[in-house]
Amino acid sequence: MPLFAKNVDDLESEEKATATYSSLRTGILSLTPGDHKCRLYCSGQQCRFCRIYLASEASGAKIEEQAIDGLYSTWITDDILAMARLQLEHFEKCQIIQKFQIANIKSVINLQESNEHAYCGQGNLKSGFSYDPEDLMRNGIYHYNFPLPDFEACSPVRLLDIVKVFDFALANGKIAVHCHAGHGRTGMVIAAWMMYSNGITPNQAVSVVRSRRAKAVQSREQVETLHKFKLLIRNNGGMIINWSKFQTIPEYVKYNQQFLSKPEIRLYGKLPKIVYIIMSQVLKKCYEIVIFDVDESQDYRFLVECSSPRSSNQNFDEELLNLQLNEENLEKTQEFYVEMCKNRGLCISNMQRVFEKEDFRDLIRLLDLFFHSSFHQLTFRDEFFQIFDAPQAENDHKISWAPTFWFLMKCCQALPNQLHLAFSRLISKWFLRSEIGIALKIQQWLSGT
Ligand SMILES: [Zn+2]
Repeated sequence: MPLFAKNVDDLESEEKATATYSSLRTGILSLTPGDHKCRLYCSGQQCRFCRIYLASEASGAKIEEQAIDGLYSTWITDDILAMARLQLEHFEKCQIIQKFQIANIKSVINLQESNEHAYCGQGNLKSGFSYDPEDLMRNGIYHYNFPLPDFEACSPVRLLDIVKVFDFALANGKIAVHCHAGHGRTGMVIAAWMMYSNGITPNQAVSVVRSRRAKAVQSREQVETLHKFKLLIRNNGGMIINWSKFQTIPEYVKYNQQFLSKPEIRLYGKLPKIVYIIMSQVLKKCYEIVIFDVDESQDYRFLVECSSPRSSNQNFDEELLNLQLNEENLEKTQEFYVEMCKNRGLCISNMQRVFEKEDFRDLIRLLDLFFHSSFHQLTFRDEFFQIFDAPQAENDHKISWAPTFWFLMKCCQALPNQLHLAFSRLISKWFLRSEIGIALKIQQWLSGT
């Protein structure tokens, strides 16, 4: 995609999402003690969500099919199921485990507080819930509990913790999310995950969730929480470029990590995520197979293995010549970056998805902008040559920029030879702010001469 291209479909709408419950109703509900709440609003034992769900009864003549038969449930995405809380009878009479296994549901995320809705359906078990999470775990289905009070807001930081676990759980298979009926809290958390992973606005996320499950995201507090979550991403560490500079790469990596799940943190090790993602995208444009392996004996030094070159590999020479390396272009790249943040919700958590569609040169320009905007000069000549002339030096892990530097070197080495000079110039500028006497040495290393 060329610079400054706008994807009209993705244009951000700043319209606010709306609640389905009035503040008055939410206020009354939050003041009503649990037993009355169930009796008044969920019909207590007759609660239509807290039992084997018979769609035909619930919606009059119209039979709405449930995603999981017998359970009030909807697929919000291909991988995320919103559902009412499970009941013991789902396990006993409804083969819920088998149904989950057939659907490839590997994790259940439970947003209920212990012993809430105790007067609904058959009430709660010793576990504090209407089912025993052990019954899931015994059958290889993970259970995560993040208690959120019914109808109320939660802090955006807590929401971030939950969506990070979503990411983690989704890597294992599909997930099923529930609160009581699977409307309010469930809808809010799924909408937050969509904002986090797709970069969409609260309003867009709520619309998508409601287009599948009409009653999702109920209270004004839940909607407000989503708007605060957006501000958290925008202003408190969720952006790729922070505009204020960091002293060292590890400082940036730490800033990065607030928004990453644990497996991701492990994956990137000492590298900024953007470096890892952009270089993997660039290599994937040249090779069918790109593997980054970690050599733990060398303090997380990455090994880069590429195979099956693509035929388009040859075209990169000219493309890179067009890569304008002078700093005047940083301003244009900056506009491009700001556009991507504004219109496509680009942030730390969704960069891979956004970058997949981008042109190779734009990605390199973005990496160039990242190094210029995030750091001052990262090293100086003496220190640089100390590391560079002894690349296997055992103590170079003490040099904070070395892991990122060697990762870039390994990636660039795998790129076609005709690109080596251009990358040598970039790398010298990224680490030393100067090419003189350095770019040529780097090029020689890359080309093995
Ligand atoms: Zn109920």
